[in-house]
Amino acid sequence: MGETTLIRNARWWRTGERIDLAFSDGRVLAGLPPSPDRLLDAGGAVLSPGLVDVHVHLREPGQGHKETIETGTRAAAAGGFTAVACMPNTEPPLDRREWIEWVLTRARDAGSARVHPMGAVTVGQRGERLTEFLALRDAGAVALSDDGKPIASAAMMRRALEYARDAGLPIVCHEEDPTLSAGGQMNEGPTATRLGLRGIPGAAESTMVRRDVELAALSAGRLHLAHLSCLESLEALRDAKRRGLAVTGETCPHYWTLTDEAVGDYDTHARMNPPLRSARDREAVLQAIADGTIDCLATDHAPHAADEKDQPFDRAPFGIVGLETALALTLTFLVEPGHLSLARAIELWTEAPRRIFGLPEVSLAPGTPADLVLFDPGAEWTVEPGRFRSRGRNTPFGGWTLRGRILLTVCGGEVTFGGDGLEVASTGDGRDRAAVAPPVEHHA
Ligand SMILES: [Zn+2]
Repeated sequence: MGETTLIRNARWWRTGERIDLAFSDGRVLAGLPPSPDRLLDAGGAVLSPGLVDVHVHLREPGQGHKETIETGTRAAAAGGFTAVACMPNTEPPLDRREWIEWVLTRARDAGSARVHPMGAVTVGQRGERLTEFLALRDAGAVALSDDGKPIASAAMMRRALEYARDAGLPIVCHEEDPTLSAGGQMNEGPTATRLGLRGIPGAAESTMVRRDVELAALSAGRLHLAHLSCLESLEALRDAKRRGLAVTGETCPHYWTLTDEAVGDYDTHARMNPPLRSARDREAVLQAIADGTIDCLATDHAPHAADEKDQPFDRAPFGIVGLETALALTLTFLVEPGHLSLARAIELWTEAPRRIFGLPEVSLAPGTPADLVLFDPGAEWTVEPGRFRSRGRNTPFGGWTLRGRILLTVCGGEVTFGGDGLEVASTGDGRDRAAVAPPVEHHA
Protein backbone atom coordinates (compact mmCIF):
# COMPACT_ATOMS: atom_id res chain seq x y z
CA MET A 1 0.00 0.00 0.00
CA GLY A 2 1.22 3.53 -0.74
CA GLU A 3 1.06 6.51 1.55
CA THR A 4 -2.12 6.61 3.62
CA THR A 5 -4.05 9.72 4.61
CA LEU A 6 -6.64 9.73 7.35
CA ILE A 7 -9.21 12.50 7.74
CA ARG A 8 -10.79 12.39 11.15
CA ASN A 9 -13.54 14.34 12.84
CA ALA A 10 -15.51 15.23 9.70
CA ARG A 11 -19.28 15.39 9.24
CA TRP A 12 -20.91 13.25 6.56
CA TRP A 13 -22.64 15.44 3.97
CA ARG A 14 -25.79 13.35 3.88
CA THR A 15 -26.74 13.32 7.57
CA GLY A 16 -24.21 15.37 9.48
CA GLU A 17 -23.01 12.26 11.34
CA ARG A 18 -19.40 12.21 12.45
CA ILE A 19 -17.15 10.23 10.11
CA ASP A 20 -13.49 9.46 9.62
CA LEU A 21 -12.18 8.43 6.24
CA ALA A 22 -8.87 7.14 4.95
CA PHE A 23 -7.51 6.83 1.44
CA SER A 24 -4.45 5.42 -0.23
CA ASP A 25 -3.33 4.80 -3.82
CA GLY A 26 -6.12 7.09 -5.02
CA ARG A 27 -8.94 5.11 -3.41
CA VAL A 28 -11.05 5.23 -0.29
CA LEU A 29 -10.01 2.53 2.18
CA ALA A 30 -12.45 0.16 3.81
CA GLY A 31 -10.81 0.41 7.22
CA LEU A 32 -8.88 3.05 9.10
CA PRO A 33 -5.10 2.73 9.34
CA PRO A 34 -3.78 2.82 12.95
CA SER A 35 -0.81 4.96 11.99
CA PRO A 36 -1.48 6.88 8.78
CA ASP A 37 1.31 8.69 6.99
CA ARG A 38 -0.81 11.83 7.09
CA LEU A 39 -3.43 12.65 9.70
CA LEU A 40 -5.81 15.52 9.03
CA ASP A 41 -8.25 16.88 11.57
CA ALA A 42 -11.39 18.17 9.85
CA GLY A 43 -12.55 19.98 12.98
CA GLY A 44 -16.18 19.10 12.29
CA ALA A 45 -16.20 20.33 8.67
CA VAL A 46 -18.45 18.65 6.08
CA LEU A 47 -16.98 15.90 3.91
CA SER A 48 -18.64 15.15 0.58
CA PRO A 49 -17.78 13.58 -2.77
CA GLY A 50 -15.99 16.03 -5.06
CA LEU A 51 -18.33 18.45 -6.78
CA VAL A 52 -18.82 18.36 -10.56
CA ASP A 53 -19.57 21.33 -12.78
CA VAL A 54 -21.11 20.35 -16.10
CA HIS A 55 -20.96 23.80 -17.70
CA VAL A 56 -17.42 25.18 -17.84
CA HIS A 57 -15.55 27.09 -20.53
CA LEU A 58 -11.88 26.11 -20.24
CA ARG A 59 -11.06 28.18 -23.37
CA GLU A 60 -8.44 25.80 -24.76
CA PRO A 61 -7.59 25.29 -27.55
CA GLY A 62 -7.11 28.78 -28.84
CA GLN A 63 -8.08 31.24 -26.11
CA GLY A 64 -5.37 30.77 -23.50
CA HIS A 65 -5.39 34.50 -22.73
CA LYS A 66 -8.82 33.99 -21.11
CA GLU A 67 -8.18 30.66 -19.36
CA THR A 68 -6.24 27.43 -19.84
CA ILE A 69 -7.02 23.86 -18.90
CA GLU A 70 -4.37 24.27 -16.20
CA THR A 71 -5.77 27.48 -14.66
CA GLY A 72 -9.39 26.49 -15.16
CA THR A 73 -9.00 23.18 -13.37
CA ARG A 74 -7.01 24.89 -10.58
CA ALA A 75 -9.99 27.21 -10.17
CA ALA A 76 -12.24 24.14 -10.13
CA ALA A 77 -10.18 22.54 -7.35
CA ALA A 78 -10.27 25.78 -5.34
CA GLY A 79 -14.05 25.68 -5.64
CA GLY A 80 -14.32 22.10 -4.38
CA PHE A 81 -14.75 20.53 -7.83
CA THR A 82 -12.98 17.32 -8.80
CA ALA A 83 -14.55 17.11 -12.26
CA VAL A 84 -15.79 19.51 -14.92
CA ALA A 85 -17.48 19.06 -18.27
CA CYS A 86 -16.06 21.62 -20.67
CA MET A 87 -17.81 23.34 -23.53
CA PRO A 88 -16.65 22.94 -27.13
CA ASN A 89 -16.90 26.60 -28.20
CA THR A 90 -13.13 26.99 -28.35
CA GLU A 91 -10.94 28.08 -31.28
CA PRO A 92 -11.26 25.84 -33.16
CA PRO A 93 -14.39 24.25 -31.70
CA LEU A 94 -14.18 20.67 -30.42
CA ASP A 95 -15.89 19.29 -33.50
CA ARG A 96 -13.45 16.46 -34.33
CA ARG A 97 -12.22 13.50 -32.35
CA GLU A 98 -8.65 14.85 -32.48
CA TRP A 99 -9.67 17.88 -30.44
CA ILE A 100 -11.50 15.79 -27.86
CA GLU A 101 -8.35 13.69 -27.51
CA TRP A 102 -6.20 16.82 -27.33
CA VAL A 103 -8.26 18.21 -24.43
CA LEU A 104 -8.13 14.90 -22.56
CA THR A 105 -4.36 14.64 -22.99
CA ARG A 106 -3.84 18.25 -21.93
CA ALA A 107 -6.06 17.68 -18.88
CA ARG A 108 -4.11 14.59 -17.89
CA ASP A 109 -0.82 16.48 -18.15
CA ALA A 110 -1.79 19.80 -16.58
CA GLY A 111 -5.17 19.36 -14.92
CA SER A 112 -6.10 19.65 -11.25
CA ALA A 113 -9.51 18.06 -11.89
CA ARG A 114 -10.99 15.43 -14.16
CA VAL A 115 -12.08 16.95 -17.47
CA HIS A 116 -14.97 15.58 -19.52
CA PRO A 117 -15.18 17.38 -22.86
CA MET A 118 -18.35 17.94 -24.82
CA GLY A 119 -18.28 17.75 -28.59
CA ALA A 120 -19.83 20.28 -30.93
CA VAL A 121 -23.19 19.40 -32.47
CA THR A 122 -22.39 21.01 -35.81
CA VAL A 123 -19.14 21.44 -37.69
CA GLY A 124 -17.56 24.73 -36.65
CA GLN A 125 -20.69 25.32 -34.54
CA ARG A 126 -22.10 26.90 -37.67
CA GLY A 127 -25.41 25.08 -37.47
CA GLU A 128 -25.10 23.65 -40.99
CA ARG A 129 -23.74 20.11 -40.81
CA LEU A 130 -23.72 17.60 -37.95
CA THR A 131 -20.40 16.41 -36.55
CA GLU A 132 -19.50 12.69 -36.26
CA PHE A 133 -21.28 11.91 -33.01
CA LEU A 134 -20.00 8.33 -32.66
CA ALA A 135 -16.40 9.34 -33.26
CA LEU A 136 -16.68 12.15 -30.71
CA ARG A 137 -18.26 9.81 -28.19
CA ASP A 138 -15.63 7.13 -28.74
CA ALA A 139 -12.91 9.73 -28.21
CA GLY A 140 -14.43 10.63 -24.83
CA ALA A 141 -17.09 13.29 -25.37
CA VAL A 142 -19.80 12.99 -22.69
CA ALA A 143 -22.39 15.18 -24.41
CA LEU A 144 -22.91 17.33 -27.48
CA SER A 145 -23.49 21.06 -27.50
CA ASP A 146 -23.19 24.17 -29.63
CA ASP A 147 -23.27 26.22 -26.42
CA GLY A 148 -22.71 29.89 -26.94
CA LYS A 149 -24.93 29.60 -29.97
CA PRO A 150 -28.44 28.23 -30.41
CA ILE A 151 -29.21 25.66 -33.09
CA ALA A 152 -31.53 27.87 -35.11
CA SER A 153 -32.87 25.25 -37.52
CA ALA A 154 -35.55 22.98 -36.04
CA ALA A 155 -34.81 20.33 -38.67
CA MET A 156 -31.13 20.33 -37.71
CA MET A 157 -32.07 20.07 -34.04
CA ARG A 158 -34.41 17.17 -34.74
CA ARG A 159 -31.72 15.25 -36.57
CA ALA A 160 -29.16 16.03 -33.86
CA LEU A 161 -31.49 14.61 -31.20
CA GLU A 162 -32.05 11.46 -33.26
CA TYR A 163 -28.35 10.77 -33.88
CA ALA A 164 -27.44 11.67 -30.30
CA ARG A 165 -30.10 9.25 -29.07
CA ASP A 166 -28.45 6.48 -31.08
CA ALA A 167 -25.05 7.50 -29.71
CA GLY A 168 -26.47 7.49 -26.17
CA LEU A 169 -25.53 11.13 -25.51
CA PRO A 170 -27.57 14.12 -24.37
CA ILE A 171 -27.75 17.31 -26.42
CA VAL A 172 -27.01 20.29 -24.19
CA CYS A 173 -28.92 23.30 -25.44
CA HIS A 174 -28.16 26.98 -25.18
CA GLU A 175 -31.71 28.12 -25.81
CA GLU A 176 -31.99 31.41 -27.64
CA ASP A 177 -34.08 32.44 -30.60
CA PRO A 178 -31.62 34.62 -32.51
CA THR A 179 -34.40 36.59 -34.17
CA LEU A 180 -35.75 37.62 -30.75
CA SER A 181 -32.38 38.30 -29.12
CA ALA A 182 -30.75 40.05 -32.10
CA GLY A 183 -28.82 43.11 -30.98
CA GLY A 184 -29.89 42.61 -27.39
CA GLN A 185 -27.50 43.64 -24.64
CA MET A 186 -29.32 42.70 -21.43
CA ASN A 187 -32.73 41.60 -20.14
CA GLU A 188 -35.67 43.45 -21.63
CA GLY A 189 -37.18 45.57 -18.87
CA PRO A 190 -37.04 48.85 -16.95
CA THR A 191 -33.27 48.73 -16.38
CA ALA A 192 -32.58 48.27 -20.10
CA THR A 193 -34.94 51.15 -20.82
CA ARG A 194 -33.22 53.40 -18.26
CA LEU A 195 -29.80 52.60 -19.70
CA GLY A 196 -30.96 52.90 -23.30
CA LEU A 197 -29.87 49.34 -24.11
CA ARG A 198 -31.69 46.92 -26.38
CA GLY A 199 -33.38 44.16 -24.40
CA ILE A 200 -33.50 40.37 -24.74
CA PRO A 201 -36.93 39.08 -23.67
CA GLY A 202 -37.30 35.91 -21.64
CA ALA A 203 -39.30 34.57 -24.57
CA ALA A 204 -36.08 34.40 -26.62
CA GLU A 205 -35.18 31.52 -24.31
CA SER A 206 -38.54 29.99 -23.48
CA THR A 207 -39.86 29.73 -27.05
CA MET A 208 -36.78 27.70 -27.99
CA VAL A 209 -37.20 25.57 -24.87
CA ARG A 210 -40.78 24.82 -25.97
CA ARG A 211 -39.62 23.99 -29.49
CA ASP A 212 -36.87 21.67 -28.33
CA VAL A 213 -39.15 19.91 -25.84
CA GLU A 214 -41.43 19.08 -28.78
CA LEU A 215 -38.45 17.89 -30.80
CA ALA A 216 -37.28 15.72 -27.89
CA ALA A 217 -40.75 14.16 -27.86
CA LEU A 218 -40.66 13.64 -31.63
CA SER A 219 -37.18 12.09 -31.67
CA ALA A 220 -37.17 10.31 -28.29
CA GLY A 221 -33.83 12.06 -27.80
CA ARG A 222 -32.27 13.31 -24.58
CA LEU A 223 -32.33 17.05 -24.10
CA HIS A 224 -30.47 18.91 -21.36
CA LEU A 225 -31.40 22.58 -21.07
CA ALA A 226 -28.41 24.72 -20.11
CA HIS A 227 -28.45 27.78 -17.82
CA LEU A 228 -32.21 28.36 -17.53
CA SER A 229 -32.93 31.91 -16.47
CA CYS A 230 -36.62 32.73 -16.64
CA LEU A 231 -40.03 31.67 -15.36
CA GLU A 232 -41.49 30.59 -18.71
CA SER A 233 -38.56 28.25 -19.45
CA LEU A 234 -38.99 26.61 -16.07
CA GLU A 235 -42.69 26.15 -16.77
CA ALA A 236 -41.77 24.46 -20.04
CA LEU A 237 -39.34 22.13 -18.26
CA ARG A 238 -42.03 21.31 -15.69
CA ASP A 239 -44.48 20.46 -18.49
CA ALA A 240 -41.89 18.26 -20.23
CA LYS A 241 -41.41 16.29 -17.02
CA ARG A 242 -45.13 15.88 -16.58
CA ARG A 243 -45.17 14.29 -20.03
CA GLY A 244 -42.41 11.91 -19.03
CA LEU A 245 -39.92 13.19 -21.62
CA ALA A 246 -36.16 12.75 -21.28
CA VAL A 247 -35.62 16.44 -20.63
CA THR A 248 -33.44 17.82 -17.82
CA GLY A 249 -32.37 21.33 -16.92
CA GLU A 250 -29.76 23.29 -15.02
CA THR A 251 -29.50 26.79 -13.64
CA CYS A 252 -26.54 28.82 -12.36
CA PRO A 253 -25.73 30.76 -9.17
CA HIS A 254 -26.13 34.20 -10.77
CA TYR A 255 -29.77 33.49 -11.62
CA TRP A 256 -30.74 32.79 -8.01
CA THR A 257 -28.66 35.63 -6.52
CA LEU A 258 -29.01 38.57 -8.93
CA THR A 259 -31.49 40.42 -11.09
CA ASP A 260 -30.93 42.69 -14.09
CA GLU A 261 -30.68 45.64 -11.68
CA ALA A 262 -27.13 44.41 -11.01
CA VAL A 263 -26.19 45.93 -14.38
CA GLY A 264 -26.47 49.23 -12.46
CA ASP A 265 -24.42 51.72 -14.37
CA TYR A 266 -23.31 49.58 -17.32
CA ASP A 267 -21.38 47.06 -15.21
CA THR A 268 -19.98 44.52 -17.67
CA HIS A 269 -19.54 42.03 -14.80
CA ALA A 270 -23.31 41.67 -14.83
CA ARG A 271 -23.35 40.93 -18.54
CA MET A 272 -23.99 37.34 -19.48
CA ASN A 273 -26.11 35.31 -21.87
CA PRO A 274 -28.83 34.44 -21.02
CA PRO A 275 -28.98 37.77 -19.20
CA LEU A 276 -29.84 38.37 -15.55
CA ARG A 277 -33.63 38.62 -15.41
CA SER A 278 -36.31 40.25 -13.27
CA ALA A 279 -37.11 39.66 -9.58
CA ARG A 280 -40.07 37.54 -10.71
CA ASP A 281 -37.75 35.28 -12.69
CA ARG A 282 -35.28 35.02 -9.81
CA GLU A 283 -38.14 33.88 -7.56
CA ALA A 284 -39.17 31.31 -10.17
CA VAL A 285 -35.59 29.97 -10.29
CA LEU A 286 -35.55 29.56 -6.50
CA GLN A 287 -38.91 27.80 -6.64
CA ALA A 288 -37.80 25.46 -9.44
CA ILE A 289 -34.65 24.51 -7.52
CA ALA A 290 -36.65 23.86 -4.36
CA ASP A 291 -39.41 21.80 -6.01
CA GLY A 292 -37.07 19.60 -8.07
CA THR A 293 -37.87 21.02 -11.50
CA ILE A 294 -34.19 21.93 -11.82
CA ASP A 295 -32.17 18.71 -12.09
CA CYS A 296 -28.68 19.99 -11.37
CA LEU A 297 -26.65 23.13 -10.80
CA ALA A 298 -23.79 24.38 -12.98
CA THR A 299 -21.74 27.58 -13.14
CA ASP A 300 -21.40 28.52 -16.83
CA HIS A 301 -17.85 29.54 -15.83
CA ALA A 302 -16.96 31.89 -18.69
CA PRO A 303 -13.62 33.63 -18.11
CA HIS A 304 -12.59 36.68 -20.16
CA ALA A 305 -9.49 38.86 -20.04
CA ALA A 306 -9.76 42.12 -18.08
CA ASP A 307 -9.28 44.28 -21.18
CA GLU A 308 -12.10 42.45 -22.95
CA LYS A 309 -14.56 43.16 -20.13
CA ASP A 310 -13.22 46.71 -19.71
CA GLN A 311 -15.05 48.01 -22.77
CA PRO A 312 -18.32 49.80 -23.38
CA PHE A 313 -21.19 47.56 -22.24
CA ASP A 314 -22.42 46.69 -25.72
CA ARG A 315 -18.94 45.65 -26.85
CA ALA A 316 -17.84 43.56 -23.83
CA PRO A 317 -18.21 39.78 -24.18
CA PHE A 318 -20.95 37.91 -22.31
CA GLY A 319 -20.06 35.76 -19.30
CA ILE A 320 -18.69 35.60 -15.78
CA VAL A 321 -16.43 33.21 -13.88
CA GLY A 322 -18.13 30.91 -11.40
CA LEU A 323 -16.05 27.99 -10.18
CA GLU A 324 -14.59 29.63 -7.08
CA THR A 325 -17.83 31.09 -5.74
CA ALA A 326 -20.37 28.38 -6.63
CA LEU A 327 -20.51 26.41 -3.41
CA ALA A 328 -20.55 29.50 -1.18
CA LEU A 329 -23.36 31.07 -3.26
CA THR A 330 -25.25 27.79 -2.88
CA LEU A 331 -24.80 27.60 0.87
CA THR A 332 -25.42 31.31 1.51
CA PHE A 333 -28.43 31.81 -0.75
CA LEU A 334 -30.06 28.37 -1.07
CA VAL A 335 -29.28 26.40 2.07
CA GLU A 336 -29.16 29.13 4.71
CA PRO A 337 -32.55 30.70 3.84
CA GLY A 338 -34.06 27.20 3.80
CA HIS A 339 -34.77 26.67 0.09
CA LEU A 340 -32.74 23.44 0.19
CA SER A 341 -31.25 21.09 2.74
CA LEU A 342 -27.48 20.82 2.73
CA ALA A 343 -27.74 17.21 1.52
CA ARG A 344 -29.96 18.14 -1.42
CA ALA A 345 -27.72 21.07 -2.36
CA ILE A 346 -24.67 18.78 -2.48
CA GLU A 347 -26.64 16.21 -4.46
CA LEU A 348 -27.37 18.89 -7.08
CA TRP A 349 -23.61 19.45 -7.47
CA THR A 350 -22.58 15.77 -7.34
CA GLU A 351 -24.85 12.81 -7.97
CA ALA A 352 -27.45 14.61 -10.07
CA PRO A 353 -25.14 15.98 -12.79
CA ARG A 354 -23.16 12.72 -12.82
CA ARG A 355 -26.34 10.82 -13.61
CA ILE A 356 -27.42 13.17 -16.39
CA PHE A 357 -24.02 13.13 -18.10
CA GLY A 358 -23.27 9.46 -17.42
CA LEU A 359 -20.10 10.31 -15.49
CA PRO A 360 -18.51 7.69 -13.24
CA GLU A 361 -20.13 7.52 -9.84
CA VAL A 362 -18.16 9.11 -7.02
CA SER A 363 -19.05 8.47 -3.40
CA LEU A 364 -17.17 8.09 -0.15
CA ALA A 365 -17.64 4.31 -0.27
CA PRO A 366 -14.62 2.00 0.17
CA GLY A 367 -12.86 1.22 -3.09
CA THR A 368 -14.19 4.25 -4.95
CA PRO A 369 -11.83 6.97 -6.22
CA ALA A 370 -10.75 9.38 -3.50
CA ASP A 371 -12.44 12.41 -5.10
CA LEU A 372 -13.65 14.48 -2.19
CA VAL A 373 -14.08 17.93 -0.73
CA LEU A 374 -14.00 19.15 2.85
CA PHE A 375 -15.72 22.46 3.57
CA ASP A 376 -16.80 24.56 6.52
CA PRO A 377 -20.36 25.66 5.70
CA GLY A 378 -20.39 28.42 8.32
CA ALA A 379 -17.01 30.04 7.64
CA GLU A 380 -17.28 33.56 6.24
CA TRP A 381 -14.99 34.92 3.58
CA THR A 382 -14.94 37.88 1.25
CA VAL A 383 -14.70 37.35 -2.49
CA GLU A 384 -11.43 38.84 -3.77
CA PRO A 385 -11.25 38.29 -7.53
CA GLY A 386 -7.53 39.18 -7.52
CA ARG A 387 -6.90 35.98 -5.59
CA PHE A 388 -8.79 33.66 -7.95
CA ARG A 389 -6.90 30.71 -9.43
CA SER A 390 -8.83 31.33 -12.60
CA ARG A 391 -7.23 33.63 -15.13
CA GLY A 392 -10.62 35.34 -15.33
CA ARG A 393 -11.49 37.98 -12.72
CA ASN A 394 -14.85 38.83 -14.25
CA THR A 395 -17.30 38.30 -11.40
CA PRO A 396 -20.18 40.41 -10.10
CA PHE A 397 -19.55 38.99 -6.61
CA GLY A 398 -16.28 40.80 -5.83
CA GLY A 399 -16.43 42.20 -2.28
CA TRP A 400 -19.39 40.03 -1.27
CA THR A 401 -19.13 38.28 2.07
CA LEU A 402 -20.26 34.67 1.71
CA ARG A 403 -20.42 31.65 3.97
CA GLY A 404 -18.94 28.29 3.05
CA ARG A 405 -15.22 27.87 2.73
CA ILE A 406 -13.38 25.05 0.95
CA LEU A 407 -10.73 23.57 3.26
CA LEU A 408 -9.46 20.68 1.17
CA THR A 409 -10.04 19.18 -2.28
CA VAL A 410 -8.69 15.75 -3.17
CA CYS A 411 -8.86 14.28 -6.67
CA GLY A 412 -7.74 10.70 -7.25
CA GLY A 413 -6.05 10.75 -3.85
CA GLU A 414 -4.00 13.87 -4.69
CA VAL A 415 -4.55 17.11 -2.81
CA THR A 416 -5.57 19.61 -5.48
CA PHE A 417 -6.46 22.46 -3.15
CA GLY A 418 -6.03 23.49 0.48
CA GLY A 419 -5.23 21.27 3.40
CA ASP A 420 -3.13 23.92 5.15
CA GLY A 421 -3.44 23.82 8.89
CA LEU A 422 -5.41 20.56 8.95
CA GLU A 423 -2.46 18.27 9.49
CA VAL A 424 -1.84 17.06 13.02
CA ALA A 425 1.02 14.91 14.26
CA SER A 426 0.19 11.21 14.39
CA THR A 427 1.57 9.57 17.52
CA GLY A 428 1.59 6.23 15.78
CA ASP A 429 0.72 4.48 19.01
CA GLY A 430 -2.92 4.11 18.22
CA ARG A 431 -4.16 6.99 20.36
CA ASP A 432 -5.03 8.92 17.24
CA ARG A 433 -6.88 6.00 15.86
CA ALA A 434 -10.21 7.13 14.58
CA ALA A 435 -13.25 5.76 16.32
CA VAL A 436 -15.80 5.98 13.56
CA ALA A 437 -15.89 3.86 10.45
CA PRO A 438 -16.69 5.37 7.04
CA PRO A 439 -20.35 5.30 6.13
CA VAL A 440 -21.74 2.73 3.77
CA GLU A 441 -23.12 4.51 0.75
CA HIS A 442 -26.32 3.15 -0.67
CA HIS A 443 -27.31 3.99 -4.17
CA ALA A 444 -30.81 3.90 -5.46
ZN1 LIG B 1 -24.67 29.12 -23.15
